Amino acid sequence: MATLDSKLSSVLGDRTAKALDTTFGYRTVGDLLHHYPRRYLVRGELSDIAELQEGDEVTILAEVFSASTRRFAARKGNMLEVVVTDGTSKLSLTFFNQAWREKELKVGSQGLFAGKVGVFNGKRQLAHPDYEMIADGNDVDAAVEGFAGKYLPMYPASGKLPSWKIAQCIELCIGALDEIEDPIPQFILDKHGYPSLQQALVQIHQPADLESAEKSRERLTFDEAFILQLLLVSRKEKMKSLDAIARPRREGGILTAFDQALPFQLTAGQHAVAAEIEEDLAQPHPMHRLLQGEVGSGKTVIALRAMLAVVDSGGQAALLAPTEVLAAQHLRTIEKLMGSLAHGGMIGAPEFSTRVTLLTGSQSAAERKDALALAASGEAGIVIGTHALLSASVEFNDLGLIVVDEQHRFGVEQRDALKGKAKIPPHLLVMTATPIPRTVAMTVFGDLDVSTLRELPLGRAPITTHVVNTLEKPAFLERAWERICEEVSQGHQAYVVASRISADVSEDADIDFLMGTSPLELASVEELAPTLATGPLKGVRVAPLHGRLSGELKDATMSAFAAHEIDVLVSTTVIEVGVDVPNATVMVIMDADRFGVSQLHQLRGRVGRGTSPGLCLLITTAIAETPARIRLEAVAGSTDGFELSRIDLEQRREGDVLGAAQSGSRSHLRLLRVLRDEDLILTARADAEELLSMDSTLTKYQQLAREFAKVEADTASEFIDKG
Ligand code: ADP
Ligand code: MG
Repeated sequence: MATLDSKLSSVLGDRTAKALDTTFGYRTVGDLLHHYPRRYLVRGELSDIAELQEGDEVTILAEVFSASTRRFAARKGNMLEVVVTDGTSKLSLTFFNQAWREKELKVGSQGLFAGKVGVFNGKRQLAHPDYEMIADGNDVDAAVEGFAGKYLPMYPASGKLPSWKIAQCIELCIGALDEIEDPIPQFILDKHGYPSLQQALVQIHQPADLESAEKSRERLTFDEAFILQLLLVSRKEKMKSLDAIARPRREGGILTAFDQALPFQLTAGQHAVAAEIEEDLAQPHPMHRLLQGEVGSGKTVIALRAMLAVVDSGGQAALLAPTEVLAAQHLRTIEKLMGSLAHGGMIGAPEFSTRVTLLTGSQSAAERKDALALAASGEAGIVIGTHALLSASVEFNDLGLIVVDEQHRFGVEQRDALKGKAKIPPHLLVMTATPIPRTVAMTVFGDLDVSTLRELPLGRAPITTHVVNTLEKPAFLERAWERICEEVSQGHQAYVVASRISADVSEDADIDFLMGTSPLELASVEELAPTLATGPLKGVRVAPLHGRLSGELKDATMSAFAAHEIDVLVSTTVIEVGVDVPNATVMVIMDADRFGVSQLHQLRGRVGRGTSPGLCLLITTAIAETPARIRLEAVAGSTDGFELSRIDLEQRREGDVLGAAQSGSRSHLRLLRVLRDEDLILTARADAEELLSMDSTLTKYQQLAREFAKVEADTASEFIDKG
């Protein structure tokens, strides 16, 4: 008899086991039994093509009428289109990058096709349907014969391993399976009315009815959520037990002086978050906190206050920024906010002043040497930098706090490299301006405490966004440039954003091939800047900014823009995060449909940061009702970053939702979808917390402890390690 850990070869023989390994990476019976059907073909329930409605889950019996594969010109890949007919009507089936299926779907052959009816270009179609071809001379019943029940499982398949073959293998495994031990504690199963693991595995593959298949699927989805949350909660607990230097608030130091000089009042939200951070820093265990808040919600001030609290305790803080532009800007902002408090060591500096220094890759050797000395001696209480901060030559006297700005751009190793520079684990504050829905945060950042800034500081002018379609109303683009001229004549500044640096087609732009636009038609910074400067924006000071400029030139351009020596910045998304020029009031985003929803929201956050109202124009050729246009309308219609990030995430694949950093645990997530399964994740989180509070080492739950160890080992190398 077999267990879930038995080798597939022991049940299926070497050849089949090898095929399952090369195709899917499955080695054990458990691996294969966790390969779940996408849907079930119901014997005797076939639909007529003529009656199909958009959104229906259907199975049809049809004959292949034609099949053709076409390559995409603008990007790698191909599309196989197969037209099938049931004698009266036709239906098209599409497969992206699966040209090999053309061999299986021979013209004239019959098969069962199952999928969800969609509509593309006004035609009904099944995208990536499941199918079962019927061998010549067989009828439908004969084709599905050999399957025990009424429900025929349809599996994700490949050319070598078609669905029916996988079903056979699974049937053999189920037949060979000994009684298995359930890792999930019985009291949790009882609470939710879930079947045992054994029942669930049998029922999802060979359901007696759809209801029990559904319940089994829910239980197996729960398993994934539960193990993941168990992992996250236990990591969080473990980090809490590490030692760190407590940095309790000290009155009468640099932080007090800073607060007294601050030209504005903190918002209620800022006060609340500041209190949370203050409490964390006062603990003898490292803080692990995520600070999320809308663009412009005032995260930087909060982070700076935390850094100053650490300086008050005799320590240093490092601020890690994703780009040189942002690091330089952080330096300017922080020096401005601190005033003379940043003049430590200079004559006439106030008593509690410190020094703020910058470390980036493009500095001269002399600048770098100075900065290194300031960091190593502890004279610089605040060290701001890019990944250059991570190099081995950088040393701190007493690194007490690491602030990571725009965390998603930093990888695990980078954070670890910086942490290694502290003798005792430092406190960590991660800031992100991309708000994430609660369960996503719980999954992606499940081991961090989360603080959220929801309100924008008072006195902030509202921002208006319009979608401008230049196909429908070509004259409106001229109008956009006029608006910029008007603002500039009133002393304001503007951004023009393009999706590309140059018109070079080979450039790695994200070409949405389905939109059908040629990359040649896209605006680029290198073309647009001179065209505008000599044309519609004649007489206005225009400058280009993009990632291919030297660090020095980028810096100089940003500084000149901040100093209002430039009126209009024509830029790529390098200005996406953090850039803060309150005098900028208009942003024109070319080919806006090239950008994601959250990205557009981030971009437009660059305007309306002062007291004058902001205007954002989304220029597009996307026609009404298309997904691209709907996305743009959503951005124009809402300024709620949480709502927009949800829309954004809903359109991505799960792997992208969880991010590359979660790839390790992702392989354990076959059924779980963070947005769809919110309730399940919340339940799993609560259950995981409850169980760990009763038995933190899972001593009483050996089987679960083994599962846990397996997932932990698999994910250890890749898992976000913020600890
Ligand atoms: P974020 O980093 O969250 O995008 P910032 O910290 O850069 O936001 O703040 C945006 C702008 O608002 C800055 O110019 C900052 O000085 C200002 N600001 C921050 N907090 C307040 C407040 N409570 N009242 C008024 N202005 C504020
Ligand atoms: Mg900021």
